[in-house]
Amino acid sequence: QFSLKDKVAIVTGGNSGIGLEYSVVLAELGAIVYVLDLPEAPSEDYAACKAYIKKLATGGSLEYRVANVTDGPGMAKVTHEIAETHGRLDVCIANAGILGPVVDCHEYPADWFRKIMEVNVTGVFLTAQAAIKEMLERKIKGSVIFTASMSGSIINKDMHWIPYTTAKAAVVQLAKAFACEVGTNEIRVNCISPGHIRTRMTEAYLGVEPLIENCWAAQNPMNRLGSVYELRGTVAYLASDASTYTTGHDLQVCGGHTAW
Ligand code: NAD
Repeated sequence: QFSLKDKVAIVTGGNSGIGLEYSVVLAELGAIVYVLDLPEAPSEDYAACKAYIKKLATGGSLEYRVANVTDGPGMAKVTHEIAETHGRLDVCIANAGILGPVVDCHEYPADWFRKIMEVNVTGVFLTAQAAIKEMLERKIKGSVIFTASMSGSIINKDMHWIPYTTAKAAVVQLAKAFACEVGTNEIRVNCISPGHIRTRMTEAYLGVEPLIENCWAAQNPMNRLGSVYELRGTVAYLASDASTYTTGHDLQVCGGHTAW
């Protein structure tokens, strides 16, 4: 039920952190996974994961393509090329995102607000639009997954991330809107909303202020941060046929943070 053998997937922002972990899980389950990200050359972490997947011989693989999620025609082109190459596109994970600086609301720079909306909302829209177009044309019963955040439903205590939290709330609503339009085509659109997970994005804060880890941990009932490994089961569930009747859902993986 969890097998993704012969399935084709795209994962934006898959060059590091959560997106790279998702890409590895899909490839372990047998999928041909295309990582779409900004750098011309993929990261060392990506290269190590690609070598690991090759050794596993599950039939899955990792491929890298340069793509910017804010470039609509570019996303449509790369997505179409992938779907044409394999005659299908089964899974799309719109995961790329940025956090931006912590600044009080009355001084938050408008340029940063626009940039975060552009990447975290418009980028998710353009990625999903490109993928769903290919799925519809090929009558694929696909799975589209957005990386939202617990910040889409709560406000992070003492972290003044006004555009980030607004953008993630929009992503949850975007998933529901897409899900309602393409449900009869058996295309599912869901969100995974992680809590505080240790990645390059969060290290930028944890590294400069060690006390932040304790503050963040104390805000959830499990009293700790999460790791990317703890998102593995969730993405396997939503990407595969294990979740064929789940759509328009926002699955929180945050150690109960939003329960408080
Ligand atoms: P990360 O910085 O390790 O990964 C983000 C990736 O997105 C990077 O590889 C980056 O190059 C890519 N990216 C950024 N802008 C892009 C663009 N315009 N086009 C294509 N790729 C782009 O961070 P992460 O923690 O792995 O974050 C992944 C997602 O998870 C983000 O959407 C983030 O908001 C979300 N998230 C993270 C946490 C956390 O605690 N780490 C919690 C909740 C949600």
